[in-house]
This record gives sequence, C-alpha cells and structure tokens, in this order.
Amino acid sequence: MTSNQLPQRRPTVPVRIGHVTVGGDAPIVVQSMTNTDTADEVATAVQVADLARAGSEVVRITVNNEAAAEAVPRIRDRLLAMGLDVPLVGDFHFNGHKLLRQYPSCAEALAKYRINPGNVGRGSRRDSQFAEMIEIACRYRKPVRIGVNWGSLDQDLLARMMDDNASHPEPADPNTVMKEALITSALESAARAEQLGLPHDAIVISCKLSGVQELIAVYRELARRCDYPLHLGLTEAGMGSKGIVASSAALAVLLQEGIGDTIRISLTPEPGGSRTREVIVAQELLQTMGLRAFTPLVAACPGCGRTTSTFFQELADDIQAYVRERMPEWRKRHAGVESMTLAVMGCVVNGPGESKQANIGISLPGTGERPVAPVYEDGEKTVTLKGDGIAEEFRAIIERYVARTYPSPDTFAEAD
Ligand code: SF4
Repeated sequence: MTSNQLPQRRPTVPVRIGHVTVGGDAPIVVQSMTNTDTADEVATAVQVADLARAGSEVVRITVNNEAAAEAVPRIRDRLLAMGLDVPLVGDFHFNGHKLLRQYPSCAEALAKYRINPGNVGRGSRRDSQFAEMIEIACRYRKPVRIGVNWGSLDQDLLARMMDDNASHPEPADPNTVMKEALITSALESAARAEQLGLPHDAIVISCKLSGVQELIAVYRELARRCDYPLHLGLTEAGMGSKGIVASSAALAVLLQEGIGDTIRISLTPEPGGSRTREVIVAQELLQTMGLRAFTPLVAACPGCGRTTSTFFQELADDIQAYVRERMPEWRKRHAGVESMTLAVMGCVVNGPGESKQANIGISLPGTGERPVAPVYEDGEKTVTLKGDGIAEEFRAIIERYVARTYPSPDTFAEAD
C-alpha cells in the first residue's frame, strides 16, 4: 500500500502516557491488559513483561483492592529491574478514589488511570468520588482514560435520557438512546474532569460495546464531537476466530476512516492459550492495513489438492515463528526489517508469482512437480533448494538477506 492510499488520521490532541504518546501525530498505540491477580506481584510482573515483549506499548492492570494497590509500585519496580519501562495503567472501579488516596505510591507508579464513569459510585457520592480521582490525577500529573462500557453504563444517566426520550413527540428507538447515553457519559465526564482542573491533553476517551455496528456508530459520533484521542476496542469480543474477526471487522472500519489512536483486542484466551495473542492480533491488524509495521509478515497460500503433505503449512508456521523470535535482536540492529515481506507458497500455480512480489519467497513443490523449491529475492530467482534441509536453508537465506538489506550501524562503522 502506498502512503497516498492510507487514511488520514482524525486530528487529536496528543496525550503522554509515561514515555508513550497517544494521539496527535503518534503512531497508533497497541495496548493490552493482564488477567492475573494484581496482588500477586510476581505473576503480574511476569505477564506484563510477556505482553510488553510481545509488543504491547501500554499495559493495563486492574487495581481492585488494597492488596492490588499495594502491589502496583512493586510490579513497576520489578519491570524496571527487567529493563522494561512499559507504562502501567490502573483500572479502577467503585473504590478507586479510596485506593488512590490511601496508596500514594500506587497513584505515583501508574502512568494513567482508567476511570469508568458508570462504576465510580452511586447517587450523591458519585460526583465527589469522581472528583477525588481527578484531583489525584491532577496532583500526580497523570492522564486519565474516561472508559465507558455499555455493560456498566451510568444507570441514572440512562434512565434520565430514556425519560426525556419518552416525552419527546417522536421518540428515538431505545438502542439509539443507549448509544447517545454512552457518548454523553464519556463527554460529560471529560468536561467535568476539565472543570476540576485536568488538562485537555490529559484525557483519552473510550466507549466500548460488544456489537460491531453499534461500536462503529458510537465512535464515528465521538470522533465528530471531540478531539480527545480515542481508545478503540470491542468489548467481550469472545474467543478464538470469533473474537479476532469481530474485533478486526469493527476496528478496521474505524481505522480506515482515520478514527482511533490506540487499540486493544479484547480476546478471551483459549484454555492454556497465551495472553500475548491479543497483542499479536492488534499488531497484525495494524500491519495488514499498512498503518504500522512491527514484524515481517509471512504470506502463504491456503494450500489445496495440489499439495500432498503438511510440509508447506509447517514451513509457513515455522518461518512466521522464526521471524517473531528473531525480531527483538533484528529490531536493535537492522532498522526497517519490520517491513520485510515473506511468502511461502504451496506449488507452481501461484508460487513463483507471489514469491516474486515478496522480499523473499519460496515456492514449494506441489503434487507431481519436481521436488525442488525455487527461492526468489526481490523478484529474482537466486537459488533452488531441495532435500531435507529446506527449512534450515531458507532461514539462513533470510538471515543473510536481513544482514545485507538492513545493515546495522556497526556495519557502517566498520566500513568507515
Ligand atoms: S499456490 Fe498451489 S498449492 Fe497453493 S493454493 Fe494455489 S494451487 Fe493450491
């Protein structure tokens, strides 16, 4: 995709979250959330580290009780000891005002507070508890995400808006009122936070729903009505392919319209599955849309009756895993390598053509074809592999290509 085909990002105010900027001209930020008990500081630090190393640029942790609040600075210190300065966001509900007041070291250690206006407190206490959290954010100079969720929408506000709607001569349908209530909750809370002294450039907004069409409609409206950076995410997206498809469908439409400054893919991990999957999916979504590049992607044909073995699927899988594993080192030494493209193709029908389009491609032999695998580098056939060592030889070709095409600064120094 050339740059003139990329969507124009909607102008937003840049917000600093630790050393990461969300909004403005900053790249769209990938974030994720832990599912450990935050009070278990070792397990939480390990999971945050896993997520950060997988590419999560901001990680949210729930701060739901005193033990969790007490653990937060220790989690931050453990991460720093591992060399990971990943900004931590505290997710607060119901008792956030108390925890932030009673645990100043927690308030200080976090890089941002997420406040859900629907879960701040009920009735008369709601405003004072919200105000206390905002005052603490001001005191510690922390940004806040006003994170509205349709499952915990402010019920007083919704009831008021439903009553107003019912008295209207031509009432809107309840779904429309609900969407408007989400937007109103977010924007009124942001306005209130600013009245309390929180700077305009310390606010990020999200309004999460689980319906794809509803989410798109709500974010389009938010984008029209404010210039706060928007955090995109489909809530309760689900497991596996269902969660990935639903999230990608919703987020891709918005991103294509230039809406969205940071994203999270809320995937339910499969039993035994890694939490880092949601980070990889978020990166792949941004990369396949041409919005950012993180890791070389492997194009592979789906395979068909022309391939007789699973070798080609295994090779595609092996190569994708290999480049992911190599990225931490490549990233340090070979600037630009994240944009490299690879292709692993199953037979001669589309193999050479697709392989020539990639930086490095291999076309494996299909049924009845000679047992040889031509390799293409930047469109030219450079070698033909055969025998049992194809995977190892192909990895070695990739390494040589990376060293040659994305030279490290040391190489220039040596040449001087
Ligand atoms: S490239 Fe060959 S093996 Fe792959 S899907 Fe096409 S015809 Fe089938």
